[in-house]
Amino acid sequence: MGYKIAWFCIPAHGHTNPTLGIVKEMVAAGHEIYYFSFEMFKEKIEKAGAVFISCDGYDFEMEDKENADRVGKDMAFATELLVSSTLALDEMIADKVSAIKPDLIISDSVAYWGKLVAMKYNIPYVSSTTTFAFNQYSSKYMKHGIRELWKMIVSMPGINKQIKRLRDKGYPVKGIMEIVQNNNETNTIVYTSKMFQPCADTFSDKYCFIGPSVRPIEKPMEKTAEKTVYISMGTVVKNSDIYRNCIDVLKDTEYQVIVSLGQNHEEFVNLPDNIQVYDSVDQMAALSIADVFITHCGMNSVSEALYYEVPLVMFPQTPEQGAVAARAKEFLESLDAGIKM
Ligand code: UDP
Repeated sequence: MGYKIAWFCIPAHGHTNPTLGIVKEMVAAGHEIYYFSFEMFKEKIEKAGAVFISCDGYDFEMEDKENADRVGKDMAFATELLVSSTLALDEMIADKVSAIKPDLIISDSVAYWGKLVAMKYNIPYVSSTTTFAFNQYSSKYMKHGIRELWKMIVSMPGINKQIKRLRDKGYPVKGIMEIVQNNNETNTIVYTSKMFQPCADTFSDKYCFIGPSVRPIEKPMEKTAEKTVYISMGTVVKNSDIYRNCIDVLKDTEYQVIVSLGQNHEEFVNLPDNIQVYDSVDQMAALSIADVFITHCGMNSVSEALYYEVPLVMFPQTPEQGAVAARAKEFLESLDAGIKM
């Protein structure tokens, strides 16, 4: 008999894309997946075979791109946001949980409301981690050591007030660390291989390193030159300067240059024929014809490029991307496939 699984994710391509392959396989194996996400992901979630449940319209400040950027830098803001988001969704989720009666909750490691729902309704919980698995050892790849991060979170003024807001609504939470931290007891899916994961042997066998989830090509792209350069800074980071500089250097050359801006491309007009600028592309298609990838080092982008054996030129924009770049450099050095600028 199949299980009923409630899946929670944040509104981000990088956190949603890798899950879709498993969703598809689980549905094919006879399980029911109820995927709590956001309207812009509805189509691809339903295509993977899950039942889409919309979290839009619940005063969910995370949808705002500026807020999403700030979350990574400002812990006080992040905690307040996680509590507010959980409480905003509380009633809707309560209704759905009592109707669906899920046997299991799988939640993105930063969609904290999923973990909190598992605690509130006492449902087994699995963490879906789309970055490297994180502990005190692997954190040495990050700019802030994990201890500093914890100190910062715990010392935040008003933290207990936020936790109390959760407790008042029936979430049995003792402290913030219980929410944001997974440990060796937490069943965790990690979308990379044990070989690529830093300090892999410091993680218990509750961690399942399933390897990157590579999607099939849906919109093939035509190779129009002998050498193709693909440039993307992912779907979150905004850095027009990098795109502008790359275009300046590569315009009117013999290279085909595919640029995915991850944003509206109105400011890039009147470009020569060899430069193809898009808001977004089928990245699998772009990588399948690329000879080099200028990347921000999102975990997925790097994994996908490794799959297609495309050499990387790495411009990490955040500490997390810096960690991916550092690891990729270390991992690929012997192959001469990565250059950290
Ligand atoms: N992506 C895509 N088309 C684009 C740009 C990105 O399909 O034009 C996909 C890419 O294949 C990857 C995800 O969006 O699966 C981006 O995730 P990543 O972790 O690389 O970076 P983020 O956008 O989260 O910074």
